[in-house]
Amino acid sequence: MEVIQNDWPWPWGLTVRGSTAYIVVHHTAGPQMQDTQAIWDEHIKAGFNGIGYHRIIKGDGTIVQGRPDDVVGAHAQGVNYCSVGVSLEGNFEEDDTPTAAQIDSLQWCLDDYKTMYPNAQIIAHRDVARIVERPEFATACPGDTLYNIIPNIV
Ligand SMILES: [Zn+2]
Repeated sequence: MEVIQNDWPWPWGLTVRGSTAYIVVHHTAGPQMQDTQAIWDEHIKAGFNGIGYHRIIKGDGTIVQGRPDDVVGAHAQGVNYCSVGVSLEGNFEEDDTPTAAQIDSLQWCLDDYKTMYPNAQIIAHRDVARIVERPEFATACPGDTLYNIIPNIV
């Protein structure tokens, strides 16, 4: 598989990450097929340095690069400095179900990241609050439907 690269200007630059302890799985909580540029715009509006995820998996399984894999992201408060984040388009806390193509691409991304970061642990965004013992970071992300599938992929 390939990861579609973009040429986005990062308004505040990028910081190379010192360590990678976690690979964090997310959902975008938005449409399951969305213009990645729209996600970029949304994150700029939210005050982020462009897209905070490292990779986005579209509804058709296309993998799009957000932040370069080796820099600090903005996707999981508490572990941004030591994690990569991959996000599936859709809202799996509500009606959406990950497509077969998305599951295949997620499997591929997790394998790819485990090759790059053999000691990193695969977790869901909702696990972060417990791991860093900060209940205020609680989130439903990546939604029950995707959360329950992750153990079958890992
Ligand atoms: Zn998330």
